[in-house]
Amino acid sequence: MNHTNSERYYEEALNCIVGGVNSPSRAFKAVGGGAPVFMERGKGAYFWDVDGNRYIDYLAAYGPLIHGHGHPHVAKAISRAAENGVLYGTPTTLEIDFAKMLHAAVPSLEKIRFVNSGTEAVMTTIRVARAYTNRNKIIKFAGCYHGHSDLVLVAAGSGPSTLGIPDSAGIPQSIANEVITVPFNDLAGLEEALAHWGSEVAAVLVEPIVGNFGMVHPEPGFLEGINELAHQHGALVIYDEVITAFRFHYGGAQDLLKVYPDMTALGKIIGGGLPIGAYGGRQDIMEKVAPLGPAYQAGTMAGNPASIAAGIACLEALQEPGTYERLDQLGKLLEEGLRQAAKEYDHAVTINRIKGALTVYFGRSEPVRSYEDAQATDGEQFGRFFRLMLEEGICLAPSKYEAWFISTAHTREDIECTIEAAKRAFAKLPK
Ligand code: PLP
Repeated sequence: MNHTNSERYYEEALNCIVGGVNSPSRAFKAVGGGAPVFMERGKGAYFWDVDGNRYIDYLAAYGPLIHGHGHPHVAKAISRAAENGVLYGTPTTLEIDFAKMLHAAVPSLEKIRFVNSGTEAVMTTIRVARAYTNRNKIIKFAGCYHGHSDLVLVAAGSGPSTLGIPDSAGIPQSIANEVITVPFNDLAGLEEALAHWGSEVAAVLVEPIVGNFGMVHPEPGFLEGINELAHQHGALVIYDEVITAFRFHYGGAQDLLKVYPDMTALGKIIGGGLPIGAYGGRQDIMEKVAPLGPAYQAGTMAGNPASIAAGIACLEALQEPGTYERLDQLGKLLEEGLRQAAKEYDHAVTINRIKGALTVYFGRSEPVRSYEDAQATDGEQFGRFFRLMLEEGICLAPSKYEAWFISTAHTREDIECTIEAAKRAFAKLPK
């Protein structure tokens, strides 16, 4: 496969865009470096790069594109919005329609506010939880990503319940001191942290199904335990459903798992591919938000008609009967095919799959249940596999910690073609 144009554009981008990319996860740093592929257009399950190569897309723009590229209903909604003017700076009735639609699908969202990104949504839930509880600390789980606001860019120290160390330069230690990180799927760790800091904790923040160290399911009782322990200590529970909402079924992971938080952050899929975020939760908590309450949050672009129209259209298309069953079936087919292909060529992999999303971890045969497990998998081998698949016209996310997302545009033939490509990749992959 020829990537000459991508390489040339990368050189050019390096001269004017920091690191050549507008989000670090797009760089190929974690898969051996070099020029990322520059895409030019997409249709359905495919996209084409600036060298004319076609790829089957499992990146799905890191989650939002559950219908693939250019879904006609979503595209129409966006062009209609563009023709009518994309921003008014006033309320619109579309926002009411969308708020009602989200509330119907995720009933714990008694009151909602739209923002522009998942980062903003999570950041604000924390502010509101702090305003509501008059406490400062939060507890998060190691390896869960919650956007790039200061407070959540803090990962684990060693062992359970350590005080945070910033993951990024520019975050004061004083802020990191407000974050306690415990391992995912470890209720004893949470109990220990709450026993120590419980009276200072405003909220326990969690991805109810993890998407950020690969797809990791909570163990039975884990989410129920979080609720019980947090509430015992007077802390709120916040679900970060930026990846999970509408990914596995029509609604949040909370409705799938039947465990409900006090507040929820959403993003990605609910914007149909345009920038969006939303947060909401119990009415008495949300009443802390300005203009009703003292917790300030605002946004020039928040609730803009284009993002809202795209989100409504995306959710409408998801309501088609059989959508999620089909995603699950395709996911199962892909999982089984990949597992068989790896076995045939004697490569140790483990695959965590939840419906139409999965992660293939290299150098491990046990399921991954924590960040520690995911960290211990073989990133170099993943990097080689990633490049072999790219040469086969299969685009994965360039990190061992990301998921493969199946969209409603993928067909059985696409999955079979991917499995054949994986066989050739595994055959070439050094042991
Ligand atoms: N929360 C989760 C679980 C995410 O996966 C992400 C992004 O990947 C975010 C929050 C941040 O969302 P955004 O990139 O829209 O700011």
